[in-house]
Amino acid sequence: EGYCSPSGPIESTHCLYETIESLNPRLFPVIHSLVETPFFRHYKVDLYRECPFWHDNGFCMNRDCGVEEADESQIPEKWRRQALSEVSVVPPDEGEGSVGGCYFREQDFCYIEDDATQEGQYVDLTLNPERFTGYAGDSSHQVWRAIYEENCFGLSEASLDSHSPPSPNRASRASAVVGAGSGAPSGGFGFSKLSEGWGTEMLKSQVSEGTCEEKKVYYRVISGLHASISIHICHEYLDQQTGEWAPNLPCFVSRLATHPERLSNVYFNAVLMLRAVERASKYLEAYDISTAPLGRLDELGKKKREEDVKAKGLLKEVLHLAGSEGMAHGFDEGDFFTGDDALILKEQFKTHFRNVSRIMDCVGCDKCRLWGKLQVSGLGTALKILFELDDKALDPKINPDLLQRSEVVALFNTLHRLLESLAAVENFRKMYAQAQSSE
Ligand code: FAD
Repeated sequence: EGYCSPSGPIESTHCLYETIESLNPRLFPVIHSLVETPFFRHYKVDLYRECPFWHDNGFCMNRDCGVEEADESQIPEKWRRQALSEVSVVPPDEGEGSVGGCYFREQDFCYIEDDATQEGQYVDLTLNPERFTGYAGDSSHQVWRAIYEENCFGLSEASLDSHSPPSPNRASRASAVVGAGSGAPSGGFGFSKLSEGWGTEMLKSQVSEGTCEEKKVYYRVISGLHASISIHICHEYLDQQTGEWAPNLPCFVSRLATHPERLSNVYFNAVLMLRAVERASKYLEAYDISTAPLGRLDELGKKKREEDVKAKGLLKEVLHLAGSEGMAHGFDEGDFFTGDDALILKEQFKTHFRNVSRIMDCVGCDKCRLWGKLQVSGLGTALKILFELDDKALDPKINPDLLQRSEVVALFNTLHRLLESLAAVENFRKMYAQAQSSE
């Protein structure tokens, strides 16, 4: 608070860096414990859905790309039952859309995968850390490019088909604006090309010059997600010669430290997520995160109930900290989607963000796809809380079934990913200082 005066709804987040940095040492350990509890570490996701946009998605065969599934006996029956009953409350033809077995409600920013998903598998997230997998090259670049190209919306696209795939036309339209070629260099990108600013970062200059705040939000959300994934890769990097996992400082320097705007987008996402969590805190505090089987009075039942009480305490503490130190005021959702074209822009924003969740099916590495899907869902849930739901809708008494379990799990795990990234940045700063002093 009071670090500097806000210069606009987005730029003002700069003022919050120091606040977040002083909050994170207290918040991160608590949310870290929270996401290890049974409710938050189990996520159901369909990892075998086909890529709807192109065929060759370069399947990654590395062992580290694989996903370990959860022990089904650990999955409370009530999750499936609840999800099924919530889905059946809104018939698919009333304000909903569906494609390839997944669906969205009108207010959703992404396709929902939940405990009712027929084809999905339960994954224990704690067994599948997001880290270096070796997935790289043309396949991953193609996915990132398609995601950034979704940024190209505007009033000229008012009639965009809501299920339209990332199109080459859209890409060339974007590059026409920025005056750059739309194709990726065939041999992949070296770092020098990175600084020349092919594609994605050129789109950034497009969004920062005279485009609306909503587009900037879209770009920053995606770039912040991308940067956060890169931080995790660099922080848990496999030295292929020694077989050891360790932070890789040169990786951090080349991918993040030399691109401060990428880092600032990670902060931006953290502030956005914290604001959403704070906004929905009454609703989230009332959410049933218990996993103890009803009426079970033996030792196991007792242990599970104790775990539930502990998890509830952690949840309360996260919600309390998220709302502390003025963090919640770092992002004012009231500054967006207010102009004459607000409704059109919001619909386009949702359509494009939903497309991002479908593009995730094209990620050719299971573990990357898992975390990609989860984080797009977490960000989509935060955007829904900020831009679609008013206080009445967020009242747990009026609307207890507002968020699916999967959305709540994705919301907290995504915030955890971002805060873990910020903790990793601190660590890299220390490593860098040490390296400098020993030179
Ligand atoms: P990339 O990260 O692939 O970036 C491509 C280009 O995008 C860069 O050259 C630059 O021009 C631009 N760019 C890079 N960062 C940003 C940014 N923050 N903002 C704007 N523009 C940017 N690999 C793993 O090892 N583990 C994972 O868990 C993992 N998860 C992934 C999840 C998804 C959804 C995707 C698409 C990929 C994932 N990958 C993962 C692959 C990883 O993201 C990189 O693609 C890979 O490490 C190759 O990196 P790179 O240096 O070639 O640049």
